[in-house]
Amino acid sequence: MQNTSAFSLTMRLDNVGVIVIDVPGEKMNTLKAEFAGQIREVIAKARSNPHLAGLVLISGKPDSFIAGADISMIAACQTAQEAETLALAGQKVMAEISSLSVPVIAAIHGACLGGGLELALACNQRVCSLDDKTRLGLPEVQLGLLPGSGGTQRLPRLIGASKALDLILTGKTLRAKQALKIGLVEEAVPQAILLETAVNMALKGRKPRKTLPLGERLLNAPAGRALLFAMASKQTEAKTKGNYPATRKILSVVKTGLCKGSHIGYSEEAKAFGELAMTAESAALRSIFFATTAMKKERGADANPREVKSVGVLGGGLMGGGIALVTATRGGLSVRIKDINPEGINHAMKYSWDALTKSVQRRHIRAAERQRQMALIGGGTDYQGFRHRDVIIEAVFEDLTLKQKMVAEVEANTSVDTIFASNTSSLPIADIAANAQRPQNVIGLHYFSPVDKMPLVEVIPHQHTAAETVATVVALAKKQGKTPIVVADRAGFYVNRILAPYIIEAMRCLLEGEPIEAIDRALVRFGFPVGPIQLLDEVGIDVGTHIMPVLEKAWGERFNAPEAFDAVLNDNRKGRKNGRGFYLYGGKKFGAKKSVDQSVYKLLNLKPEARLNAESVTERCVMMMLNEAARTLDEGVIHGARDGDIGAVFGIGFPPFLGGPFRYMDRLGISQVVNTLERLMQVHGERFTPCGALQQRAASGQTFYK
Ligand code: NAD
Repeated sequence: MQNTSAFSLTMRLDNVGVIVIDVPGEKMNTLKAEFAGQIREVIAKARSNPHLAGLVLISGKPDSFIAGADISMIAACQTAQEAETLALAGQKVMAEISSLSVPVIAAIHGACLGGGLELALACNQRVCSLDDKTRLGLPEVQLGLLPGSGGTQRLPRLIGASKALDLILTGKTLRAKQALKIGLVEEAVPQAILLETAVNMALKGRKPRKTLPLGERLLNAPAGRALLFAMASKQTEAKTKGNYPATRKILSVVKTGLCKGSHIGYSEEAKAFGELAMTAESAALRSIFFATTAMKKERGADANPREVKSVGVLGGGLMGGGIALVTATRGGLSVRIKDINPEGINHAMKYSWDALTKSVQRRHIRAAERQRQMALIGGGTDYQGFRHRDVIIEAVFEDLTLKQKMVAEVEANTSVDTIFASNTSSLPIADIAANAQRPQNVIGLHYFSPVDKMPLVEVIPHQHTAAETVATVVALAKKQGKTPIVVADRAGFYVNRILAPYIIEAMRCLLEGEPIEAIDRALVRFGFPVGPIQLLDEVGIDVGTHIMPVLEKAWGERFNAPEAFDAVLNDNRKGRKNGRGFYLYGGKKFGAKKSVDQSVYKLLNLKPEARLNAESVTERCVMMMLNEAARTLDEGVIHGARDGDIGAVFGIGFPPFLGGPFRYMDRLGISQVVNTLERLMQVHGERFTPCGALQQRAASGQTFYK
């Protein structure tokens, strides 16, 4: 009979039982509700052996110990009570494991996340492989939840409250050596000896819990604890602006457990888990998780992708350098860069070298690995080495004639199957392909800056792009670690189209005399990572002023950027790239200290004074974005609300806890969105006219999602 259990037990001659976790039919192990009974069964079987010396838990999968809990279990809960019951069931299994009289060792290789790490925490000791795939963490907060199977109680006791809070509040994951350093695992060994090491640990008998280092013990004493939680709470509020209910609950549950004992802590944890599972924030964050998981399996077109073995990049500037880096380091592909200037090649090579050196310094990779990855990247000022490249990504200056010339050159210097992907931010792909001999091979592939950090790319087929070209480019983007959305070849594509009216509205607020910091603060408070004016500085005021007229020509008046944009640019303010924009920068480096450049007000003839309240600034900017997003959906620029949400969250940093513009509009109620737009239209004019897409939905009671 086929084995349907995820857990199987083998007794060794030395009386150590090895429990292999291997969820049948799945690539990765994830925890499901039915496992509680299955794991109990194997434990009972092991205990029935009177000579049992210990147990080792190990995975049968190549890449995951347990990658977390199956999130659809949470989505299926209708009430907080149901979700709480789920957590209590998980806690019960963990309690049984932790109370076994024999040593239980978790032998971890691959992803050990969420419920997987909670299971490991319930074991007596943990050993992990030193493999690069090994990652340990409690990422529940990123889904608006907290660890519900005892993680908030066991982790602080194992590694101390301050380190535990750092892990649970951020959801970050640790590599083997980091986990060893903070005491999350007792040993880290090569994968080849993982099982043997775990067995030996088991044979040495149950170990009492280690005492925490002195610093952690001081923080565990009442005075230290009060200070620790006050500080953690302050820092968390500053970071989350109170937008993430999970972080407050985490602080409260961990504190309760430490002050009142883990027994009370466990029941608070389960209760908080139940409540958080019902929040709109968690639902939104989970929807993003589900969307990205589903998108990983999609091809973007009804065709098979061609295999891509090597890539060419035209232009070694800001974008070309980043594209070469992700292609080599994430995709593992050979890249050859061509630039007209040797400086461009040097820039791109240095970009990769610096990024890889940072990884070496952080001990994420060894120096030898940096050499190996750098060996994948080469360059020159001619087309040598381009003939057999499968995809050429073009990132030269934003100029149509130049890009058309690039198409012709690539067609002359590569094979008939080579794909030409343009990273243009504003030119129609159809125009770039206008004189192409093989227009079916031409496509848009729009990255965002900085390329190695921004997860989104827009894939833009024009009318004659072959489905195979779309599928190949989508697959390449995924290999580069990106989330691709396929969008129509219309001005601004999707992301810039919805971003522009939002930024223009922020500029209008500024021109009404609102201080720059007040505008940016309002939208950061709403949940954006940076405010719109700072974002303009980051993107480049020169880039912004280049794109706006293209959008205005295509979409009309509401994209009419105030003339102030030109005045700022003419004053040699490009933003962070030249150290001066609306803000002044200490240096070109990302994160270098900035302050508002007061002379901008003089330049624009303004006397700044906070007249508007933060809510109205936010409402005006966000409503412009929402209205535009709705338009793009009905025009077919995006394939669905889901792609629009992912595009906004990953491309602009739209607040993830709101799920993206479409989910947010559903949550507000479409009629409410229409009413707000109409009210704003009365005061500020036509640009706020609710689009047909919204009006129809409001009238028929339709939502974007079912
Ligand atoms: P950049 O000025 O930093 O780099 C352009 C590079 O192209 C330079 O190194 C230049 O020497 C090289 N070049 C010019 N003509 C060439 C030719 N004939 N052959 C080979 N190389 C040539 O520009 P960038 O910011 O990297 O932008 C490149 C493209 O990416 C533009 O189309 C831009 O619109 C688009 N883009 C930029 C951003 C951004 O934030 N900067 C974002 C998305 C898309």
